[in-house]
Parts: sequence; structure tokens; C-alpha cells
Amino acid sequence: MKIEDPGGEFSTGFGVYVEEDSFTGHASEFLLPGLGEKTVVQIYLLFFGVGIFLFILGFKLEKLRVFLLSYVFLIGGGFLKRMTDYYRARKCKKCGKEFAYLEARSPEVEEYGHDSRVETTSYYRCRFCGHEYVEVIGQKKIKR
Ligand SMILES: [Zn+2]
Repeated sequence: MKIEDPGGEFSTGFGVYVEEDSFTGHASEFLLPGLGEKTVVQIYLLFFGVGIFLFILGFKLEKLRVFLLSYVFLIGGGFLKRMTDYYRARKCKKCGKEFAYLEARSPEVEEYGHDSRVETTSYYRCRFCGHEYVEVIGQKKIKR
């Protein structure tokens, strides 16, 4: 995806968010608008369902091939889910345009020493209507 940047506003601070050349991004832009979000969600839920069923079946029958087939469905379902997450994260909450949000500036990461929590604040801006969206994600810090 080529991003227009006449003012140079977004020329710094690109993090992992944009993923211009990621396979997930390209696949998402190709598949989601064509099939629709609802259809893709139904497909990956079906994949997860079939995957879990085959996993249990493979365990009961002690058949390696059934096991391997269950992994194909689970991995495929996981990939479709990632594509859907990519799509959802980039859809503008104001104008509803798809693949609209760009990272407006670098995310801020704050650490809380007492309860070993990390909070990441990300700033996005819609490239069509300029709507700004702030997302705060709290995570448990991984102990090293
Ligand atoms: Zn917008």
C-alpha cells in the first residue's frame, strides 16, 4: 500500500503498525473488501471448528495424518483471524473508510513497577477525514 504524504507528516515514526509490505496486509486488502468482514469471520470460525474436531478425531484414532490436517485448518483459521484483526484496526471509526488509519506518532510505552504492567498508547489518524484515534493496551510485563 502506497501512502500519500505530501506534508511529510507521517514520514517519521512508522512502527510495526503500517507493515506496508507484509503478506498479512496485502492478503487482508485483497480478501476483506471482496468477501466482506462477516464472511471471513464465518470462514475462520469454521476453520477453527473443523480444526478442533480433526484434532480430537486424530487423537482418538491415533492417526498422524488427521492430526496434521487439523493443524492445517487451525493455522489457516489463525491467519484469516489475523487478516480480520488487521482490517478492523485500520477501519476509520468516524467515516468508516477501510484501511484508513496511519500511525500519527510513535507509541508511548509506560511501565508500572509495582504491579509489573506495561501500558502502550498508540496514536492513529485517518488519512481521509483526519479522525484521531488513541488506543491504550495494558499488558503484563514479561519477566526475564
Ligand atoms: Zn475517517
